Amino acid sequence: SLTDRLAGVFKKLRGHGKLTEADIKAAMREVRMALLEADVNYKVAKDFCAKVSERAMGQEVMESLTPAQQVVKIVNEELVALMGGSEAARLNIKNKGQTIIMLCGLQGNGKTTHAAKLAKYFIKQGRRPMLVACDIYRPAAIDQLQVVGKQAGAPVFTLPGAKPPEIAKKALAHAKDYGNDIVILDTAGRLQIDDVLMQELVDIKEAVPVDETLLVVDAMAGQDAVNVAKTFNEKVSIDGIILTKTDGDTRGGAALSVLAVTGKPIKFQGTGEKLDDLDVFHPDRMASRILGMGDVLSLIERAQETADEKAAEETAKRMLENKFDMNDMLDQFAQIRKMGGAGAMLSMLPGASGIDASQVDDKAFDRIEAMIYSMTKEEREKPSIINPKRKRRIAAGSGTTVADVNKLLKQFEMMQKMMKQFKKSPKGFARRLGGMM
Ligand code: GDP
Ligand code: MG
Repeated sequence: SLTDRLAGVFKKLRGHGKLTEADIKAAMREVRMALLEADVNYKVAKDFCAKVSERAMGQEVMESLTPAQQVVKIVNEELVALMGGSEAARLNIKNKGQTIIMLCGLQGNGKTTHAAKLAKYFIKQGRRPMLVACDIYRPAAIDQLQVVGKQAGAPVFTLPGAKPPEIAKKALAHAKDYGNDIVILDTAGRLQIDDVLMQELVDIKEAVPVDETLLVVDAMAGQDAVNVAKTFNEKVSIDGIILTKTDGDTRGGAALSVLAVTGKPIKFQGTGEKLDDLDVFHPDRMASRILGMGDVLSLIERAQETADEKAAEETAKRMLENKFDMNDMLDQFAQIRKMGGAGAMLSMLPGASGIDASQVDDKAFDRIEAMIYSMTKEEREKPSIINPKRKRRIAAGSGTTVADVNKLLKQFEMMQKMMKQFKKSPKGFARRLGGMM
């Protein structure tokens, strides 16, 4: 697999100590082969290796004490950049009024399944999505949407005998009457791209103001999926991609190429047939997966320990200034992720050597982040203004419970107190921060 191939390349590099240009050139040839084997688009693989080479040949890397580690770190960073950067791409969801999402894609790629997955995802955030059956050509398609809609707990709008643009229009009015704030259109697919399919999608978009056009593509199709995405984007203009069946995709070629080829980011990935098998797509996590969590990642962390020592110092200084609110907390989480997670960060703090980094739960960060994102800017600055009603809303918005929100607010209060303590005793601070996570 790509992971094994890359690990092999890096292992060879490590045996070298100081690196020459020839070492790096040879390594990049192998990386390029590995990418092509993983079904990455030819030009994307070529440009990727050119970028990594250029950075790796720089003086900083060649003269560093750990050149091989630095190269791995660069590969990781460029993989993240290739898939869209360290931030997940956001959906264009309105806070007020209706949001219309249209799913499109070839038959069997997962539109109907993902319409229901998205509905469930929004319900967890306290939204009221409605599904709309615009795939009218096969009676079984409407039945299928009704079945998965029921599983997700979302109403399904159907209008027998009408054409898709008209169905979409009527569905909007219906959603308005029933207070459904997100309308998800499940459209028809075909086995291959054809003009009739494309025209129908264009007609729907002319009939209703679609906020998000999401293309559903099967990751297992590799470069074919990327070519399909390119055509869909040219003909109907998409906003993002749901990459499905990543649970069955062992190569990763589509995930790696699709943004570079189409200019449109992957926003979600499907990881199985069940309705909960939907993840927001995080380029940095995908890059970590491709590089392998074990040996290679620990190499990166070690490289980062030196590179990010400055950043860690910066963080500690800001904490000391006591100006720490929840907006800062979000910033810091982003930084912590960049540094390879909480464990890696803790090991950089003075006095934290006694903490077992593997005991630190990075998932806790995801939950906390989701809660903070559900707060208003004012609430993040002054959490004490959050009342019980808002707590319930924040919990619903982040898929957590009021107890979780309370716990976060308590922890935040504690953290603020600890900031003050840090001045007196850095050792005690690190130990308690470790205990909190
Ligand atoms: P549509 O024709 O585009 O509407 O595709 P469907 O939603 O009907 O899905 C086609 C098949 O793919 C179904 O059997 C789904 O269960 C399956 N499927 C959809 N998404 C995923 C996924 O993320 N992982 C796996 N393993 N199967 C999926
Ligand atoms: Mg379908």
